[in-house]
Amino acid sequence: MSDRLGPALGEPIFKRVTIIGIGLIGSSMVRALKRMNAAGEVVACDASADVCKRVEELKIADVVEQDVAKAVANSDLVVLCVPVGASGPVAEQMGPHLKNTAIVSDVGSVKCAVIAAVAPHLPQGVNFVPAHPVAGTEFSGPDAGFADLFLSRWCILTPPEGTDPAATDKVQQMWRSFGSNVEVMTAQHHDLVLAITSHVPHLIAYNIVGTAADLEEVTQSEVMKFSAGGFRDFTRIASSDPTMWRDIFLHNKEAVLEMLGRFNEDLAALQRMIRWGDGDGLFELFTRTRAIRRGIIAQGQETASPDFGRREPPKS
Ligand code: NAP
Repeated sequence: MSDRLGPALGEPIFKRVTIIGIGLIGSSMVRALKRMNAAGEVVACDASADVCKRVEELKIADVVEQDVAKAVANSDLVVLCVPVGASGPVAEQMGPHLKNTAIVSDVGSVKCAVIAAVAPHLPQGVNFVPAHPVAGTEFSGPDAGFADLFLSRWCILTPPEGTDPAATDKVQQMWRSFGSNVEVMTAQHHDLVLAITSHVPHLIAYNIVGTAADLEEVTQSEVMKFSAGGFRDFTRIASSDPTMWRDIFLHNKEAVLEMLGRFNEDLAALQRMIRWGDGDGLFELFTRTRAIRRGIIAQGQETASPDFGRREPPKS
């Protein structure tokens, strides 16, 4: 992946940053922090000895540490990049070892459940600025990351009430240095918006690929052979990491169920239009949805590849 980030910062934003969980997102953050000089020192921490060994081989971090307590000691910013369900247990492990002026953040795709699981383990004085970079690929692990993953992507911050605005500002500066656009909203609103824009679409993809796999009248080889249509796009989404997506559905239950209820009602309406030959109804809906697609393209958010098919960012 080419590096299209601009010049590095003259002064780091944080002296020492610890990233916990060096998968796709964590290793991309480690690379972006180093590339942009956003941290004086970057510590990479992962529970897996194999991941730590691989991160050492890749030489992307200043320090690699398997022990959470040692990894977070003296860090000004600690970012949890572990699956959503692991956030609480990791926070419990690290809580007593945090510097009392530290900022804690995360990158979880779900925000209310992560705040509920992490916040109780943070000592007084530590500020929590949860974040969700709306960027990714269907790949996992430390080899999958790259520094410009976040370029031109949105990063949503959901600081709970009472968070020091100066802490939110520093986390915001870091994401901006990675080339992200930052928006601040409540965790509740985040979870509802992401349920319909990301979580339910993934569930539909998992479901349709599962249905095709179980069909008896259509062979597996026919599914693969004729998948040039819409199905191929679904298979890409349905190949996303099973641990991450299991945790998302278990931890954004209410919002996903609410959106699925609406989805089912609309699907039933479509079923009726097909059954009763309501061509005008179908045409009207497909015209409206086409306009949404055009809006997404106009905003430059049409593909999972950062800036794919768009102009290179201006060189400064
Ligand atoms: P990933 O590539 O699977 O990486 C997760 C890493 O965390 C793995 O190295 C894993 O080690 C490690 N880990 C798991 N439990 C741990 C623990 N208790 N202590 C320390 N390390 C632990 O996953 P990812 O795609 O980067 O996702 C990480 C987070 O980013 C998730 O919360 C996800 O919701 C969020 N996110 C993902 C995307 C995306 O598109 N992928 C986008 C936005 C946000 P093992 O492999 O040994 O378990």
